[in-house]
Amino acid sequence: MALTLIRNIDLVLTVNADNEQLTQQSIVIEDSRIAAIGPVDQVESRYAGVTFDRTISGKDKLAMPGMVDAHLHLSEHLGRGLFPDQLSTRPWVFNWAKPLYAAVDEEAEHVGTLLAGIEMIKTGTTCCLDMGTQNDVGNTVKAIEQAGFRCVTGRHAADVKPEQLPAHWTQEMIDHHFFPNHKVALEELGRCVTTYNNSAGGRIRVWVNIEGKEPCSPELHYGSRALAEELGVGTTYHIASSIEEAQVSETKYGVWPVTRLHNMGALGPNLVLAHVVATTDEEVGYLAETGAKVAFCPGTSLKIAKGATKIGKYPEMMDAGVTVALGCDGTAASGSLNQMQQMYLVAGLFKDCRMDPFMVPAEVALRMATIEGAKALLWDDDIGCLEVGKKADIVLFDLNTPDWVPYNNPVQTLVYSSTPGSIDTVLIDGNVVMEGRRMTHLDEQEIYREAREQSKRVNERSGLLADIPVFTKAYD
Ligand SMILES: [Zn+2]
Repeated sequence: MALTLIRNIDLVLTVNADNEQLTQQSIVIEDSRIAAIGPVDQVESRYAGVTFDRTISGKDKLAMPGMVDAHLHLSEHLGRGLFPDQLSTRPWVFNWAKPLYAAVDEEAEHVGTLLAGIEMIKTGTTCCLDMGTQNDVGNTVKAIEQAGFRCVTGRHAADVKPEQLPAHWTQEMIDHHFFPNHKVALEELGRCVTTYNNSAGGRIRVWVNIEGKEPCSPELHYGSRALAEELGVGTTYHIASSIEEAQVSETKYGVWPVTRLHNMGALGPNLVLAHVVATTDEEVGYLAETGAKVAFCPGTSLKIAKGATKIGKYPEMMDAGVTVALGCDGTAASGSLNQMQQMYLVAGLFKDCRMDPFMVPAEVALRMATIEGAKALLWDDDIGCLEVGKKADIVLFDLNTPDWVPYNNPVQTLVYSSTPGSIDTVLIDGNVVMEGRRMTHLDEQEIYREAREQSKRVNERSGLLADIPVFTKAYD
């Protein structure tokens, strides 16, 4: 058994049920789990005479649980800054993201995942829900295992082509994206779960993920959750991701997307819905009744003009008891995998747009980025807060940095003042994956070099360097 001691931590933000803040603490980790958290002298007397395999100094440090990102796209990670910032959701997805995804082959997906892991760890995220891979899930699982983070992944799946194909879509792209029907898709998704779920000693889980919205049939929406239930896992997809999607749904089916899902019995507690910006009060009630979870991505909403502050009902969802977690979305959508930025945005956006300072206090933003994310991922028995028995996914901030001097209210300082640059050490599953801001197990420079090279290749293959329209009529 490997024993690790983090000794004499100035302050621990447990994010437990009482939001306890503990001073001058030591944490003992046995293999991958937290075995003790307590005042320095108590822990020392309990472990008197024991030799630790590793001791980390907690002096001038703040410890908090690793953040959980409830919606991102590992396969999109080489698309940073590639699309114009004049795209709304539908042209963003149909004209730009689809050609990019189709151009991401196994090599690009592998290095993109390693790079995503570095960015997450350096910004304090230790676990994420990935929308799904473009190639074999096993290829991404290998990269996640190497990168050292905790993850739920799956295979990005769709089964409905638009009636009128966008002019720049190639046959290769179409073959890459669309399964012939929902049955074939679900069979493959089930195979991914049975083959790869609980990889890397349980650190990597695989769900029945689909893309959602217009590119997926009702049977695939309904069937993904039913199959997930059968396999004892979860599912996730995008829905109600823009007002345009809701309007098209109303014209075609007479109802908005969440109501349509509700009417077909597709909502349930093992489902994480990404975005959900266009909802009615009634639909907020459906989410609460069925236990469906929501991943809100503030950064994407800002960049792609989704209207979270104008039409979003995220505060109402939380009031109704819906689990609302935070997501960075893909880097082509929001720009980064920096969950600290999402925490800051969610704490500020609703105070400002509703002109109400009681909206989303810093403590709530911190919970959304940690324990609420863990609940969305159905993983809160193991992660999301610092408690004895939980997995040792821990972030240590260096308090000897300008963002933390003085910190007074530490949660406020975390949310409104601190930057990822003050994160010094990160542990995942009891392993030190970053120390002194250096990755312990990855050659960062080599990964940056390869990522730049692969990105060039992907951009050329994608056809996105040509003149691509910023409007679309696909699926209208
Ligand atoms: Zn997404």
